[in-house]
Amino acid sequence: MPEVIRQLSEHVANQIAAGEVIQRPASVVKELMENAVDAGATKIIVRAADAGRTLIHVSDNGVGMIPADARKCFDRHATSKISSAEDLFSIVSKGFRGEALASVASISHVELKTRHASEDLGTHIQMEGGDRKDELPCPMEVGTQISVKHLFYNVPARRNFLKSDAVEMRHVVDEFQRVALAHESIDFVLSHNGTELFNLPAGSRRKRIVAVFGAKYDERLVPVEESTDVVSISGFVGKPAFARRTRGEQFLFVNQRFIKHGLLHRTVMQAYQGLLPSDQFPLYVLFLTIDPAKLDVNIHPTKTEVQFEEDRHIQSLVLPSIRRGLGKYAVAPSLDFDQETSLNIEPYNSGRMVAEPAIQINTDYNPFHSNASSTRSGVGGLRPGRGQMDAWKSLYGEAFSTDQYSGHNASSLRTEAALPDASQSFPVDAEGEVSGRPLFQYLNRFIVTSTRSGVIFIDQNRAHQRVLYEMLVTKLEENESPISTQQLLFPEVIELNEADRHFILESKTWLQQMGLLVESHDSGIQVTGTPAEGETSPQTLIEAVLQATGDEYEDISRAERVAAQMAEVMAVRSGATMKPEAMVDLVDRLFGCSTPGLDPFGRMVIVNFGANEIEQRFS
Ligand code: ADP
Ligand code: MG
Repeated sequence: MPEVIRQLSEHVANQIAAGEVIQRPASVVKELMENAVDAGATKIIVRAADAGRTLIHVSDNGVGMIPADARKCFDRHATSKISSAEDLFSIVSKGFRGEALASVASISHVELKTRHASEDLGTHIQMEGGDRKDELPCPMEVGTQISVKHLFYNVPARRNFLKSDAVEMRHVVDEFQRVALAHESIDFVLSHNGTELFNLPAGSRRKRIVAVFGAKYDERLVPVEESTDVVSISGFVGKPAFARRTRGEQFLFVNQRFIKHGLLHRTVMQAYQGLLPSDQFPLYVLFLTIDPAKLDVNIHPTKTEVQFEEDRHIQSLVLPSIRRGLGKYAVAPSLDFDQETSLNIEPYNSGRMVAEPAIQINTDYNPFHSNASSTRSGVGGLRPGRGQMDAWKSLYGEAFSTDQYSGHNASSLRTEAALPDASQSFPVDAEGEVSGRPLFQYLNRFIVTSTRSGVIFIDQNRAHQRVLYEMLVTKLEENESPISTQQLLFPEVIELNEADRHFILESKTWLQQMGLLVESHDSGIQVTGTPAEGETSPQTLIEAVLQATGDEYEDISRAERVAAQMAEVMAVRSGATMKPEAMVDLVDRLFGCSTPGLDPFGRMVIVNFGANEIEQRFS
């Protein structure tokens, strides 16, 4: 029997490591930016083409490398940042594993130009799939320039797994922002396909945050500052009135490294208790500084998860420091928002001395009526278009018969024994009244009607969500004519941070397909048309679209997520009175769906009380 265990080649080992370190173009951007930061650069320029698929170029004015190091930097476990295991407990650099460049080089074409101050000329090295192809001296300034081309060219599985350019570019922007927020004293530039997206000059932290998110953010920030022997916290949290239904403006850094930490996130949210409805998220950009020895950054290769030795201690500092911060600018504690209480926030003016905080009362202020929080209300009843009634009348006979009711998803419909029978169709008269079968609204929430097999209750809100959802998904998938749009007489401007703005504009074509017309605007975007059905505000629709971009549902297709989120905000509310013709129209459309029994989030739409069940109650 020959031996079966072999040592993997360096080549294969690098590709395997790459699978962990480099998931998508954004991972390359992060690693290269971090290397530039570690190299002491004061200016870092990032350029991407096709969301980083074809090119990622990062240039810095850091220390650069001598020729011998330039050759070595692509070797696995080659690092200048640590030399012994003890060093692991005092890491102040971003990298230390010596894996990034080896990984990137093994799955792309890399061109490195670098010059150390001790040399007159720089070194130019070309790598392809981890092999060195060429090395030449080249004249250049001190610093390093790395081009990564054709990422995943030799890993088709990875390449195919990548999402649309809009999604990938959003990840790139996310990583860029994280590094840029953590290093306000470095100049950063990001451009995509020749268009400059960010140009962030070195400055204060507040300036950096404002440069990243937009000028409007200046007045939204509340400073936080606190320290103990073990840890110090500083940064900014957002005023409650500007909280949003979507996540994405929450940044926590530990020793200038972006991290995700569930416990600390919850702690921050706790500090806002009573100031925000539970489905809203405040902005925060918080920086913890802690002795590296108390921190284990070694848990995950991409290092967004860390473990603290003193979780509790840190928690007990974070909570009160935010409360105090908010307290200085607002009447934070013991507010009762059910009444018309006030929350007036003094705008911070960085140019003047901060005076003793004064509390002002604005009796008109109600945070639950702020622009961000009013989004859940305000959808009127379902209004079928004019032509729809005619269409409905001609369709009615078939679509509304009991065999339609029983034909779907028996487990959620619980209809038994309903036989197809032409006499079961429900004709209506000219007024839209239902004759033959009564149909009425119960509790302003359910549409109740009978079938041969019993009585059914239809949840109006969920039914409408299902109908809209299938309509939107079909429109997105078929890529044919968009759903009907209502042009807005006065386009509505919606302020967005740069990342969100970029994402929406890149998604313009498919948003249009769903009836949402957007254009670029100085401070964000402007909405020029919304879907004709329903009365959902442009702001609410845009928030719904943004909500569907989060990482948390990567397994469902993006079209489906966006459609579900939009359907949720567009659907007729529970509690809205519905006209008979609107109910008939809705029921008709519901039973034209492929899955009428469940809403897009899997909740039950229809409950059937079988005739047998009803009869038994009388026995
Ligand atoms: P790590 O950052 O974990 O050390 P990398 O593979 O990212 O590993 O980089 C390997 C080494 O190459 C670094 O330790 C550093 O010495 C050198 N290096 C990488 N990028 C740069 C750069 N932009 N400027 C100077 N040196 C660099
Ligand atoms: Mg590195």
